[in-house]
Amino acid sequence: MLSVDIFSCYAVAGVGSLVGLALMSLIRTEQPRVSYALFLYRWAFVCLAALAAVLFAPRDQVAAVAKAAIGFAGMGLTLLAWAFRQLNGRRTPPWLGAVVTALVGAVLWGFAFTPDESYERALALTFAVVSVGMAVDQGWLILRSARIVGSEVSLLIVAGCFAMHWLAFLIHVLTVPGPYPSHWLHSPAWLLPISGIGISVLPLSVAAVVLAIINGRLNQQLRARALSDDLTGALSRRGLRELGGRMLAIQEHQPRQVAVFILDVDLFKSINERYGHVIGDDVIKHITHVLREHLRDDALLARYGGEEFTVLLPVNSAPEAYSAAERLRHAIETTPCVTRMGPISVTVSVGVSFHGSQRSLEEDLSRAAVLLYEAKQNGRNRVVVGKPDS
Ligand code: GH3
Ligand code: MG
Ligand code: MG
Repeated sequence: MLSVDIFSCYAVAGVGSLVGLALMSLIRTEQPRVSYALFLYRWAFVCLAALAAVLFAPRDQVAAVAKAAIGFAGMGLTLLAWAFRQLNGRRTPPWLGAVVTALVGAVLWGFAFTPDESYERALALTFAVVSVGMAVDQGWLILRSARIVGSEVSLLIVAGCFAMHWLAFLIHVLTVPGPYPSHWLHSPAWLLPISGIGISVLPLSVAAVVLAIINGRLNQQLRARALSDDLTGALSRRGLRELGGRMLAIQEHQPRQVAVFILDVDLFKSINERYGHVIGDDVIKHITHVLREHLRDDALLARYGGEEFTVLLPVNSAPEAYSAAERLRHAIETTPCVTRMGPISVTVSVGVSFHGSQRSLEEDLSRAAVLLYEAKQNGRNRVVVGKPDS
């Protein structure tokens, strides 16, 4: 069986954490959520880097130095769990993250002054709780997400292996009495090399997974930018074609229909003439905001051109489509756009058609445009809905 020296493994983990810290400091991002996560990762790696102190400790002091460093390492692991939650967009209240991190450090340092037996139990229990918590949290995220992402699964594998290791160690510690080695990992012989290698590679594995997750996010962001409109951030025509096509293909196999709305701002030319194009642009952004606020998550919103918007919405019936369109029309009518030249009230007219199985999205949009024209002819600020089967 491979023999490993645990103190050397701590030192490798400490040096690996310094590399992790450098990598986390090199990433530049505009996303506040990712920046906050990177801030936590950096602190996590700073804490884990304390293990490198073992490298410089005098021979007879290695155990004492390692005990002090493990308190920091426990805090580092907790910070990693917090950072992963943050990276995944699940908010942890900062006070809770800070309290749990401090608690883990306090337990490990507190037990450092007790006999080896209780220290070892505290060590095993603390690391098992944090690593199992991290693995369960990650597993839960993957279970609930609609799409399986490779980097998220890699994280689950890293966290899962780490958690299983600490669970096995905890069970051994609780069921098999001493002797307690100077590194307090009194493990079965088969587990000790695994512990050593696991501890050594954990920081760099974590850094690699973080880079993979962030890289995936940036790719997603680039893609979203390519499919969205500059002024409003709603989907562009290209985005509508791509994501709308996908929505229609999915809904073909569902009992629900897709309602296709075209919304056109009423008498927008006069807003431009009266207030200028810059304010006109602000009004367009304001309308996008109001539409977003009043649309369900499963709807697609696109800026089809100038002051025309398109919405694709899965619905169960024509009356449901009518009330959704009416809700949007009413929201825009009753929410004036606040500008530096005072509040500006606008209205929209809406044409609503329904996707037919043999029709392209372009044809659905042409039908909606005819209904929109009817709404304009009938006096504007109104919704006209076509027949679902037409
Ligand atoms: P209607 O009720 O018949 O729709 O009247 P309307 O004045 O809105 O008529 P129309 O739709 O033909 O006019 C659209 C105007 O929107 C024309 C153009 O000056 C303006 N427009 C188009 N794109 C933009 C834009 O990106 N920013 C601004 N400020 N104005 C735009
Ligand atoms: Mg128009
Ligand atoms: Mg118009």
